[in-house]
Amino acid sequence: METGKLIVFTGPSGVGKGTLLRKLLTQHPELVLSTSVTTRLPRPGEIHGTDYYFVNLEKFQQMVANQELLEWAEFAGNYYGTPRFQVEELISQGKWVILEIELEGARQIRQTFPKALRLFILPPSLWELEQRIRRRGTETEEAIAKRLRRAQEEINAANEFDIQIVNDDLEKALENLEAALFVPC
Ligand code: 5GP
Repeated sequence: METGKLIVFTGPSGVGKGTLLRKLLTQHPELVLSTSVTTRLPRPGEIHGTDYYFVNLEKFQQMVANQELLEWAEFAGNYYGTPRFQVEELISQGKWVILEIELEGARQIRQTFPKALRLFILPPSLWELEQRIRRRGTETEEAIAKRLRRAQEEINAANEFDIQIVNDDLEKALENLEAALFVPC
């Protein structure tokens, strides 16, 4: 029987995790990206059930109380979490499941799923990260400041992870990512 795997992707907001993951998933459609729950409001173009399950705070708290989340954390004033059922079901089917989550959640997964492979995506520099967040144009000044403070904290923890990948050049980062994921055993 095939064995499922849990792969955790962490890295500061704006590092380009999403773009990198979309490329990875296009080339390896057998991988499954878990859809998180969040209390954040949808950005233009985001779709409920695809990008996130957008819920209110009451619903989120209910899910926490019912232990429906595998991990959860507060990030820049909003809550984010991974639905437990979805992930456990896919892994039991032998799927490789990817979580794209922030640092606190990744630390929780280390406790609950010690076998998970944990990758950290680094920006070439904090300055470059700020430019990327600003180019996205979706955040207020206050939110940008919060995200940058959090980014520095996350970068300081990069060496807690199994593998670090610098997202400078997208193709190169993808190559390094594939080498880390598909090591012959
Ligand atoms: P954004 O608001 O930019 O979509 O996401 C903000 C941060 O929340 C990102 O670092 C993202 O990886 C993280 N995040 C998204 N979903 C989850 C989740 O389910 N759990 C945790 N802990 N973090 C998440």
